[in-house]
Amino acid sequence: MGSYIENRETRDSAYAVRQNYFKDIEKYLLGFEQKAVENRLDVLWVNDEEQLVSTIESQFKSKYNKVCFDLQEIPAALASHHAVKRITPQAFEAQEIIPDIVITNADFAVAETGEIVLLDKKTQNCFNLVQNLIIILDISKIVARRTDLDLILYILADSKHGAAIHEDVKFIRQPFAHVEAAEFFSSSESNYSRQDVKITVLLYDNGVSSILRNENLREALYCIDCGLCAKNCPVFAVTGKYTPIDLVKAGISEQDSDTIFRNTTLCGNCNSVCPIAIPFNELLTKEMTVSKEGATNKFLSKYLLKRNKMNALNNRLRRFVILKRIFNKNKKLFNYFFSIKEDFFNIQQKEQ
Ligand code: SF4
Repeated sequence: MGSYIENRETRDSAYAVRQNYFKDIEKYLLGFEQKAVENRLDVLWVNDEEQLVSTIESQFKSKYNKVCFDLQEIPAALASHHAVKRITPQAFEAQEIIPDIVITNADFAVAETGEIVLLDKKTQNCFNLVQNLIIILDISKIVARRTDLDLILYILADSKHGAAIHEDVKFIRQPFAHVEAAEFFSSSESNYSRQDVKITVLLYDNGVSSILRNENLREALYCIDCGLCAKNCPVFAVTGKYTPIDLVKAGISEQDSDTIFRNTTLCGNCNSVCPIAIPFNELLTKEMTVSKEGATNKFLSKYLLKRNKMNALNNRLRRFVILKRIFNKNKKLFNYFFSIKEDFFNIQQKEQ
């Protein structure tokens, strides 16, 4: 198993920090906007990907714009946009080509101070070289206070590196100074010009409000993207399809409990490792129960039974017989579970 926060108090505090933000999300969003504007950042609100793309398009100044996307996933409409010449983050970082616009996403933001927080972005130390910086900020990634952020960063560092400090944390509070050398040197005039980098923060809803309306699943938004649930999920290790937290959210948007049935064994590993103590099994079973009434209860008891059986596996022969019965049609999952040497299945049980 990967490293995880063992201290119950730390997990409870992290849970409380996330709960507090979502309880009063509108207040904190408005607070963030006010502070950011006071700090001379532009703030625009966008609902969905279509609006995100059109808002970014409105920042294009000419027919061809050199754009550097420092993003994990570039919206398809922008990746192939006729007015975009893509500059790779590597080329920008090496200062081979300076883009007109850099588009990146924030990892967190603080409502109390209006600060944006970036973690280990490739281009984050070159932002002062561009004229226009666009930062996409998912509205679920804001925390109320700076002290809340310290706790989240500590947890993230612990889950990823086992160290107390994240590798490269950048705080953006105000625009950077963009300095350009003058074309001609003269003794009477300054040899350089200085202006602010224009920073536009896009407050991106990205489906958060619709999840918020679902009382059952609100806790799924507390995720801070540490990646531990994915690392410890035996199904994701084989299929690479849904991480546990993606699965919770997929169930909501597709209204499809079958997706959940097919992608979980309810082993409880994600429950145990999540540093925010998101109750995965509870959320997944609630989703299954809510989305397909009659049929679901039948499936649900079948799956819970499967989980109990898996937890009971304690010798190789028994493991073989039971896995054969459960995964008869899925060779990949069968091989994966059979190849595990250590006791399994549920680390919570192991702790007890
Ligand atoms: S849900 Fe998964 S990625 Fe999110 S905080 Fe919990 S363990 Fe980390």
